[in-house]
Amino acid sequence: MGVRHIDKKKCLRCGLCVTICPQDVLRRDDKKYPVITYLQDCQSCFLCEKYCPAQAITVSADRERRPVLPW
Ligand code: SF4
Ligand code: SF4
Repeated sequence: MGVRHIDKKKCLRCGLCVTICPQDVLRRDDKKYPVITYLQDCQSCFLCEKYCPAQAITVSADRERRPVLPW
């Protein structure tokens, strides 16, 4: 299932989740809100949920795979 929900009422439109996603799952709409665009590519790595400053993203662990980070 992967990234499940983005709460627009909480979202600050900072774009961090879009930038941080290693699978390029999220895009921004014309109002700068993140949109789940390529859900099939989500690996449930939780980076977007973890780093969202507003706790606006919910990820489910159904397909959990920890990201391979370059640092
Ligand atoms: S990181 Fe959180 S607050 Fe920022 S755009 Fe994404 S959902 Fe919104
Ligand atoms: S859980 Fe990971 S792969 Fe899925 S949208 Fe969030 S950052 Fe991207």
